[in-house]
Amino acid sequence: MAITTGTLYIVSAPSGAGKTSLVKALIDSQTQIRVSVSHTTRTMRPGEVDGVNYHFVKHEQFLEMLERNAFLEHAQVFSNLYGTSQEWVEQTLAEGFDLILEIDWQGAQQVRRLMPQARSIFILPPSQQALSQRLTNRGQDSDETIAQRMREAVSEMSHYVEYDYLVINDDFTQALDDLKAIFRANQLQQQLQQQRFSDLLSQLLA
Ligand code: 5GP
Repeated sequence: MAITTGTLYIVSAPSGAGKTSLVKALIDSQTQIRVSVSHTTRTMRPGEVDGVNYHFVKHEQFLEMLERNAFLEHAQVFSNLYGTSQEWVEQTLAEGFDLILEIDWQGAQQVRRLMPQARSIFILPPSQQALSQRLTNRGQDSDETIAQRMREAVSEMSHYVEYDYLVINDDFTQALDDLKAIFRANQLQQQLQQQRFSDLLSQLLA
C-alpha cells in the first residue's frame, strides 16, 4: 500500500523535439516514474512494438473504447486517434508511482480540466531548422508527412504558454538535467515530504 499517491505529469512537444528519447532517459534513471502507453489507430512504424510504444488498435476498437469512457483523454492528431487509458492512470497513481503522459496539447487541456494538480512540461527544439533536420534524419516518414509535421509543429508549439515548465532540447544532457530537476523539485514538495517523513517530523518537533 503506497503512502502517497503519485503525481501526474504531462509532457508535450512537436514531433522531432526529442520528447520520447528524453522521457526514456529520465525513466531509465528513476524507478518510481512510469510512462503511459497510449492507444492509437496509427499504423506501426518500423521498430515499434505493440504494447510497448503504443497499443495499436483498429478504428472500430478505439471507438468502442471511447463509447464506454475508457479514455481519460483522447485526441485526433495527423488524422489518427490517440487516447490514454483512464483505468491504468488511476491504478498507477494509486500505487504511488509518478506518471508521465506523452500527449499533445489537446489531450493536455482535457487532463488539466479533470486533474488540475497535474504538472505540465513543454519541450521545444532549439530552432525550426533543427526540428526539420531531426524529422528528416528519423527516416521513418515520407517527405510529404515531414512537411505536414513541420506545419503542425509550429501550431503545436504555439500552445507552450499553457504549460507549467519549458525545456529547450538543444543539448540532450542539459535538457535531461532540466527534466530531472523539475521532477525532483516536485517530489520535494512540503506536503509530500511531510507524508514520507512523518516519523522524523514527529521526533523533531517533540
Ligand atoms: P506519434 O504518432 O508521432 O507517436 O505521435 C503524434 C502525436 O500524438 C504526438 O504529439 C504525441 O504526443 C501525441 N500523442 C501520443 N499519444 C497520445 C495520447 O494518448 N493522447 C493525445 N492527446 N496525444 C497523444
